Amino acid sequence: MKDFINDNQIEKTLVQAKNPSAARVREIISKSNELKGLTPDEVAVLLQTEDDELIDEILQAAHKIKESIYGNRLVLFAPLYVANHCSNNCLYCGFRRDNRELNRVALTMDQIRNEVEVLQREGHKRLLMLCGEHPTRSSLDYFIEAIETAYAVKTEHGGEIRRINVELAPLEVDEFRRLKKTGIGTYLLFQETYHHETYKKMHPSGPKKDYLTRLTAMHRAQEGGIDDVGIGALFGLYDYKFDVLGLLFHALQLEKDCGVGPHTISIPRLEPAFNAPAAIAPPMPVTDTEFKKLVAILRMAVPYTGIILTTRENAALRSEVFAYGVSQISAGSRTNPGGYSDKTSDAFRSAQFNLGDTRSLDEVILDITEHGHIPSFCTACYRLGRTGKDFMDLAKPGLIQKFCQTNAVFSFKEYLLDYASPKTREAGEKLIADMLETSFKTKRKKMVTDRLQTILEGKRDVCI
Ligand code: SAM
Ligand code: SF4
Repeated sequence: MKDFINDNQIEKTLVQAKNPSAARVREIISKSNELKGLTPDEVAVLLQTEDDELIDEILQAAHKIKESIYGNRLVLFAPLYVANHCSNNCLYCGFRRDNRELNRVALTMDQIRNEVEVLQREGHKRLLMLCGEHPTRSSLDYFIEAIETAYAVKTEHGGEIRRINVELAPLEVDEFRRLKKTGIGTYLLFQETYHHETYKKMHPSGPKKDYLTRLTAMHRAQEGGIDDVGIGALFGLYDYKFDVLGLLFHALQLEKDCGVGPHTISIPRLEPAFNAPAAIAPPMPVTDTEFKKLVAILRMAVPYTGIILTTRENAALRSEVFAYGVSQISAGSRTNPGGYSDKTSDAFRSAQFNLGDTRSLDEVILDITEHGHIPSFCTACYRLGRTGKDFMDLAKPGLIQKFCQTNAVFSFKEYLLDYASPKTREAGEKLIADMLETSFKTKRKKMVTDRLQTILEGKRDVCI
């Protein structure tokens, strides 16, 4: 496959969009309200908008889109790092090969079981499993066994993992087929930066040096039958405006070639990491204001693609950007393999990077509930086959409001009964009661009330 990212074209698009008129910016904002997405030229204009009043209008527009498509729901997951050996040398990552001081760990299947039990007992149902790239310590065979092990763990109250998304180095089509057979949800992989020269500088050795193999991984995943794929960029490596356009060109190419764009876009920002020079001094740091703006612009550009925000960001900023379009968040995370079951371990010496939000899942849930968001552990679409193009075809006429809001209430109710602290339970029950009054019309309200009663009586995994 040919490289479809043209640096000159992106730079030129950005130069041409400089100093846009207020009228042009408002015209694009108004187009974004139609929920049909935006072109790269239009996105470049929004990115080049520096006027505070207009930026505020961009944020408000993204907020409206987020409310109309996603309502107040936020999907929660936990990352599960199984191994931190790596043959690559990414200058920003604590796992990089040349970090000789890192404690290297590859969890055994028993240790993975322990980790999953802890996560289940906190209330998690969705995992993102990841590892470093290493031919023997985290081979595909090992990773597949780890997925199967995690899916097989069951704890009290119907504790189980219902969806495992994975993030691991690029594979070949046959390998993606094998991965698909384990029942994974989304395959995620971040290009880190779409800017070729910076990519080369940041990845001096190891298989990840190869930009094109990474760029085309999502196409191979689709060919291997994985129809939910998640792209991302690591913000802080290069100009954020360039990388937002890179993400958009990647999304458009997938839509053109595979009939469906990415299921999610992740927007990690560089965090300090142990012995990782580019993380300690990010080459092009992205300010909080720029970060909010880029989240909003992505929401307007690809309205039906989920946006994932992780615990790299601190609690205050996370609360703020939920409003502009984030639809999935991690909570209660550890980035050191084994970090959930051994909380006393020297996390810094085995973790990938430092966390900005170290609160427990229950604390995060209490906070988002008090801000009016409904936490969701729903996995219904994936298990009922609503994935890839089928998902997007349903999402556009309103699936997310119809199914997701309802399933969020069901999965949240299960969480409140089985895992929540008394304070979170009280806040959560109040939110559900308020939503029953305001968010559901008579017929649906009756159906939701009836099913909530079955959950109270002990039924689990209720969804539509
Ligand atoms: N090793 C695989 C890879 O590189 O694709 C799997 C994922 S890696 C464990 C997860 C992601 O963490 C990377 O793609 C990168 O974007 C991100 N990451 C690495 N170092 C980071 C840092 N210092 N701050 C924030 N994110 C970082
Ligand atoms: Fe290895 Fe991934 Fe870290 Fe790069 S980002 S050093 S590939 S774990």
